[in-house]
Amino acid sequence: MPPEEAEFAQRLAAVEERIQRAVQRCGRKRESVTLVAVSKKFPAERLVIAYQAGLREFGENYVQEFADKRAGLTSLTDARYHLIGHLQSNKARVACELFQVIQTIDSPKLLNRLNLSAGERGVTIEAMIEVKLSGEESKSGADPVVIPALLDAAASCPHISLTGLMTIPPWSDDPEPARPYFRQLAALARQYNLPKLSMGMSGDLETAIEEGATIIRVGTALFGKRPKPVSA
Ligand SMILES: *Cc1c(COP(=O)(O)O)cnc(C)c1O
Repeated sequence: MPPEEAEFAQRLAAVEERIQRAVQRCGRKRESVTLVAVSKKFPAERLVIAYQAGLREFGENYVQEFADKRAGLTSLTDARYHLIGHLQSNKARVACELFQVIQTIDSPKLLNRLNLSAGERGVTIEAMIEVKLSGEESKSGADPVVIPALLDAAASCPHISLTGLMTIPPWSDDPEPARPYFRQLAALARQYNLPKLSMGMSGDLETAIEEGATIIRVGTALFGKRPKPVSA
């Protein structure tokens, strides 16, 4: 096995082991947690390696970056791509062509644009609301008080299937500070009867699983440290 593939297989096994231990601790089934491999900043070849190792769900943050990568991914016939970075409504059309799941809905306007584009393409797009729980001004995502308005808007979008909530807690190198945010997101999902919960990353996936995550978004633990952007 080429070194890059062997290294990926090793990292995947370690992540899988962490997921297994976490689901066992809280009496959940492994199938109740979907591992989304966050491949931002890595070239298409790395996604191909991940796909060959068995992964089928990928998370990308930037529409343009993924558009540039897409040509290298034609062999990944049954892969699903999640947009997990902020989406401007003027990029809704191209996002519809590239992604099956948009995890970062934060406005009715964005929902309506996606619905229009998905309708034109004759597809249904899966969407999740990104919820801002930390009150940090710089963070994207919708305030929890606007969730009902977003659900109302989604109800009149026949080409959008709104399935859940997503959040990014404030950064910490310790998994425990994220727990109250995960717990709060789970409570909101219950309150609004939404089945999917996207929360937990490389550093805190166990905490997220314990608090009910159905989707974890893992980058560094699978692909290693992200390459630094090349400065001009
Ligand atoms: C980059 C990113 C991740 C993955 O983070 P890691 O710590 O590398 O696992 C998950 N979710 C979002 C929204 C991200 O931007």
